[in-house]
Parts: sequence; C-alpha cells; structure tokens
Amino acid sequence: MDWVKEDLEAIWHPCSQMKDYEDLPPIIIDYAKGIHLYDKDGKAYMDLISSWWCNLLGHNNIRINDAIKNQLDQLEHVIFANFSHKPAIELCLGLKHILPKNLKYFFFTDNGSAAIEAALKMSFQYHRQNGLGEKRKFMALTGAYHGETLGALSISGMDLYGSIYEPLLLDVLRVEGPDCYRCPYGETRDTCACPCFEQVEKAFEKEGKHISGFIIEPLLQGAAGMKIYPALYLKKLREACSHYGIHLIVDEIATGFGRTGKYFACDHAGITPDIMCVSKGLTGGYLPMAIAVATEAIYKGFYGEYNEGKAFMHSHTYCGNPLAAAAGVAVLKILEEDCVIEKANENAPYFKEIINGYFEDYQYVGEVRRLGLINGIELVENRAEKTGFDPKKRIGYAIFKEGLKAGVILRPLGNVIYFNPPLNITRKEMAIAVERAFSAVTAVLGK
Ligand SMILES: *Cc1c(COP(=O)(O)O)cnc(C)c1O
Repeated sequence: MDWVKEDLEAIWHPCSQMKDYEDLPPIIIDYAKGIHLYDKDGKAYMDLISSWWCNLLGHNNIRINDAIKNQLDQLEHVIFANFSHKPAIELCLGLKHILPKNLKYFFFTDNGSAAIEAALKMSFQYHRQNGLGEKRKFMALTGAYHGETLGALSISGMDLYGSIYEPLLLDVLRVEGPDCYRCPYGETRDTCACPCFEQVEKAFEKEGKHISGFIIEPLLQGAAGMKIYPALYLKKLREACSHYGIHLIVDEIATGFGRTGKYFACDHAGITPDIMCVSKGLTGGYLPMAIAVATEAIYKGFYGEYNEGKAFMHSHTYCGNPLAAAAGVAVLKILEEDCVIEKANENAPYFKEIINGYFEDYQYVGEVRRLGLINGIELVENRAEKTGFDPKKRIGYAIFKEGLKAGVILRPLGNVIYFNPPLNITRKEMAIAVERAFSAVTAVLGK
C-alpha cells in the first residue's frame, strides 16, 4: 500500500497547511524506542520535542507499557459519574504527594484545552454562586498559549492561532507579559525585581473587581517561543491575586512533571495556585488525559444540596480513563524511584555546555534561554539590534526540513528553535542531537 498517498487523500493534519505536505509528505512512523522514532523505511529521528512536549520518559517505555497492558486486562473504561476505579484514585493520591499543598480536588478531562475550559467555568461559577457575580472576566498575558478550543483560545494571546476567530472569542483582558530578552525596562532576567509586573498591578487596580481569574503559563511561555521569565513574577502575581480576590489559574500543561527542573514550575516560586491544569507529561505522553486541580476553598464553593443548583455540571465521556490513569500512576512511580528529575538536573549543565559550544557565538543567535532541559535558541538577523528574521522567510520551517534530513526533529516556533527532550535523554544522545541541530541551522543560514 502507498501509505503516504492514502494518508494525503484522507487525513487533515493538525496545525498544518496541507499544501506543504506536497513537498514534504507525512513521515509514517512505525516504531519508537527511547528518544528515537523509526519510519516505515527504518530511518531514525531523534524526538527532541517530546512529540509536542508530552513524551516524558521515552517512547515505548517498558514500565509504562506494562502498566497499561495490566490495566487493559482489568478495565478499559467506565463512566466516571457515580463510578470510580483504583488507578484514578491512586493517581490522585500520588499527585497530592507532589503538588503544591492545598491543591486537593481533581477534576479529570481528556485533553489540556478541556482542562482549561473546566478551570474557566469553575472559576466563573464559583464567583457567581458565592455572591461575587460581578467577577466575570478573565485576564491573561500577551503571547499566552492555553489551547485551541474557543474558551482556551480566547485567553491565549497569539494571533497566529486566534486572530481569525476573534468575533467568536470571549472578551479577555490582556496584560503585556514579561519579555526578558527584549526587556523594555533594560533589566536582566536573573537579577531583576520584575518592574514589568506594574502592568498587572495597573490592570488589577482598574478592573480587579470584575476579574474572576488570571491565567498564566508559569515561568515559561512555550508556544510564544520558549520565553522564560523569573519566578519572582509568579510570587508577585500570587500576592496580587489574593489581594484582589482573583483566582490564580496556573497552566502547568507544558511545564509539569519535571520539565523545568522541579515537579512543577510553581515550585520555583513556592506558590499554590487556586486551580492548576496538568496534562501532557501526566501520562508520560501516552494517552490523552488532563486534570484541573482545585483547592478545597473552590471545591467547597460547589458543595451543597442538589436543589441549590451549585454542582459543577461539566463532563467528558472519557473523564478519568483508567488506561490513562494507570499510565499516570506508572509515571509518578518512575519519576520517584529512578530520581528522574534529579538526574535530568545533573545532565542539564552538560546539555547547556554543548549547546553553548555550538550556538553561543554563532552570528545569528540572539539568546539561548533555558529551564530544566528545555533550551530555546532565538535566531535573529541582527544580533546587536535583536531584529528577528521576517516570518515570511519561514526559516524555522526550513530548519525543520534540514533537521529531518539529519535525523533530528526540531520544530521551531517561528525563529526560535528549541530542545525539549524526554527527561531521560542520555548525554551521548544530547551531544549527537546538538551537533545535528547545529548542522541543520547552518545548512539554512550559512556558517
Ligand atoms: C499543549 C498545551 C495546552 C493544550 O493542551 P491540548 O491537550 O493540546 O489541548 C494548553 N496549555 C499549554 C501550556 C500547552 O502546552
């Protein structure tokens, strides 16, 4: 069978201009192991983006495989209203152990965007039925990414994904987010006192009493180009939200489970949000599952006699799927027993060193920024002026194609190439990956 031809005649791929596929047909992956994907002809690709940031512990991980297989012979799925099962309960117990304290009640959904939608509705409903009905708006940062469904897209601040749908979207209050590489205050990321936080203060002063929740990607605005900002900003946001009675909703979908060097990005700031959304690494990147985790205070705001009408009447067919939950339980076990995060942290300086070795002095590198094993490299046309390449040139896409030839998957975000590999990538793999990535970049931009 001509798999590529059949694919192109049937499948509408996500986030793609399908015309591009005429030049670059879809790569049919047959098998994967660790950080490697193998296509139908046996060619290997290093998965340096963790298959859209979700694969946490390598592909085809024996322990996660076994957990799912064992669960499969027990129970594949069951309605989650009125029914429950051991894997979901175990998963929550495990998560309570590692989450910021006070996050205690777990509302399951089946993907990240859906968890965001649940969090928005939860926050809104909480205020509405607890005497704070004027709190009906949400606030978020420029450059935010929280998913693609209409609510999640509304709070996202990226024109690339959202602008055409503008007439359909919620009216969200937007605050200029931190931009540490091109800091308008002339500060540097590691030492500043976050003067840019004044933008939030001003907005809260003006609109605070109408705001239900502030939603934020903690420390790392991923889709915006792996933009990293200081933990102090989060601390200030926690304080300000508490002061104005605004829910702090933290989107840890990309940052959770060790990606930033700690279990959660919030841990760098020592804060507890009112609602935290997790997904992606939650199942090791195996199966779709997400959770909006709430504090007891929020949970109690929905508690009462049925006829009071305070329940959270929200559901998805696959809420709490047992196979995904079993994968999640295995992931937590592996993270703890194998000290995965500690080991990744030990390897991070090595990764930094080789990346800097190739990239730091390269004429088109504006900034290399990092958090855990995530390393973002912003390419600029002019280093001194920090001017980016014209997006129409699509240099990121050209680098992606060169990377494929070299056997690495880099999927640049605009002009930012990045590494976000599974946490158990070895040093040897790091060295090979970076060398290949550099060759892909120079193949496009020259030496
Ligand atoms: C991926 C992602 C989402 C959306 O999750 P989906 O499962 O793709 O709907 C939301 N927020 C962040 C930060 C993400 O990285």
